[in-house]
Amino acid sequence: MKVRDLLIATTNLGKMQEIRETLKDLELEIKSLKDFPEIEPPLETGKTFFENALLKARYYAEKTGLLALADDSGLEVLALGGAPGIHSARFAGSDATDEKNYLKLLELMKDLPEEKRTARFVCVMVCYHPSGQYITGEGIWEGKISFAPRGEHGFGYDPVFLVKEFNFEKTAAELPLEIKNQLSHRAKALKELKRKLPQFLQSL
Ligand code: IMP
Repeated sequence: MKVRDLLIATTNLGKMQEIRETLKDLELEIKSLKDFPEIEPPLETGKTFFENALLKARYYAEKTGLLALADDSGLEVLALGGAPGIHSARFAGSDATDEKNYLKLLELMKDLPEEKRTARFVCVMVCYHPSGQYITGEGIWEGKISFAPRGEHGFGYDPVFLVKEFNFEKTAAELPLEIKNQLSHRAKALKELKRKLPQFLQSL
């Protein structure tokens, strides 16, 4: 298979490294947004994770003429009807920080007992070719929201996300990154996408 350029459309270094590492055995020349500093990010106007991931991947593929991979992710809390969902990054408002976001979540949920604290992280990835063809990968990571933050690793809602695989006894922020990167919604989405990639590349 011939080597192709693949633009990973994220400014998050951690995500970049994770994606690069996972795809390293495919014949791809990985590019990042640093290679295209002149391109402004698009507005994420979608109503779902899928719409936002597709919108970003299509935007960068069309701007650069390259195969482009984008993702969108967030936290869904069952008792809050799926909130914060696609608004996860800005849940606490325009000056939101990771800490403000999870403190707002804990406050909203302070009267909910353990059995009503079910949550999940969702990630959708889209790999889009300028011809209009694309493939997707989706991953879900199940857990519960804790009553207080714990742990130093990770980012976002990790300190309040109790991981199902650890019997809801550890938060995602208490896991070493190597373990999180095996279990997470992003890891699962990436795995599905990687499985579809060789055939997709051949079909282009
Ligand atoms: P994005 O996909 O990078 O835009 O992520 C949206 C938001 O969802 C982030 O700012 C976090 O608040 C949250 N989020 C997504 N993935 C994770 C994760 O792995 N841990 C914690 N928070 C996450």
